[in-house]
Amino acid sequence: VTIGVARESAAGERRVALTPETAKKLVAAGARVRVERGLGRFARFTDEAYADAGAELVDGDPLADADVALCVQAPSVAAIAAMKPGAVLVGALQPQADEARGAAIRERGIVAFPLERLPRTTRAQAMDILSSQAGMAGYKAVLIAAQLAPRFFPMLTTAAGTIRPSKVLIVGAGVAGLQAVATARRLGAQVECFDVRPETREQIESLGGRFLDLGVSAAGEGGYARQLSDEERALQQQRLAEHLKGIDVIVCTAAVPGRPAPKIVSAAMVAGMKPGSVVVDLAAETGGNCELTQRGQTIETDNGVVVAGPLDLASQGALHASEMFARNLYNFVSLLLREGTLAFDWDDELLSKTVWPERAAG
Ligand code: NAD
Repeated sequence: VTIGVARESAAGERRVALTPETAKKLVAAGARVRVERGLGRFARFTDEAYADAGAELVDGDPLADADVALCVQAPSVAAIAAMKPGAVLVGALQPQADEARGAAIRERGIVAFPLERLPRTTRAQAMDILSSQAGMAGYKAVLIAAQLAPRFFPMLTTAAGTIRPSKVLIVGAGVAGLQAVATARRLGAQVECFDVRPETREQIESLGGRFLDLGVSAAGEGGYARQLSDEERALQQQRLAEHLKGIDVIVCTAAVPGRPAPKIVSAAMVAGMKPGSVVVDLAAETGGNCELTQRGQTIETDNGVVVAGPLDLASQGALHASEMFARNLYNFVSLLLREGTLAFDWDDELLSKTVWPERAAG
């Protein structure tokens, strides 16, 4: 099996789908590994490290003769169209997000595994790119908030007097939100967090956060949240608005699968916050949890509240994010490799539920 990895083409993407560590493991499993020269430059992996791991460095397009292509974001339509018919493509492919991309995958007969489709079962955890990348995003979002805030996060007792700790509210306690709770706690802030899934209370508390009970519980299917009803949303909004007056920093991480981000922090709520407060909205990519969030921008309101909607947060921690992403991919590709050749066990739901286009049953 020949595995090919090209440099990422999406703007701002610093991560890579293969590290020297996973290259070495794939070579040991009998694969031939070919990477484009300069692949790991922005994630800080050198060509020498890949070569030492047993990978071949190539100057042209390593996808063109690959049986398996690995990527973080989907390659360009032209690169997909140049792949071997029937080759495997694995990564955060989002085939439905771009019609031309989806068409190129179909027309070339590519066996695509968009890993964001992976069922989130216990066995799949080691391959779960959504979780591994959300951890970095939650961590970075808190650091951005700390950087934008005109205050300390920890309590300080100094000769110049005592400084109160910052009050940080994390909205949503999924993977990103829980990492945000942990990170803000390590910086010494007083941390509160809420979610509509009641089981998050224990998780938040185990990280040293306080569960903010807004009286709304909306657990949905597969361990995810469902969308709130109008009444539930109104109740959540009313209780939250009152509470936000005492909050210094909000980090938003709430999401509902397959839907735009739920709008939780309204413009009126931000108008009621103290000057110098900060909102960092990690959900900016899917529309934002805050009504004022602008994709990729940092704005300041008339009452002196800064609202940031950073994009590419996982990419900002490209070295560790890549290590985790590449291990996720390695673990998934291991399901397809048998004694150095490709084999598809379509009875395995991790394959059959992830593959795109969906295969007819039987
Ligand atoms: P996500 O990114 O889809 O959502 C983030 C959080 O936002 C979720 O906790 C959700 O409950 C919350 N949310 C949605 N609407 C809200 C609202 N109106 N107000 C407040 N909060 C709201 O979720 P995720 O981080 O990808 O994963 C969520 C959960 O899925 C995990 O915490 C875990 O329980 C489960 N999960 C399981 C596995 C596994 O077993 N393999 C892997 C990952 C996640």
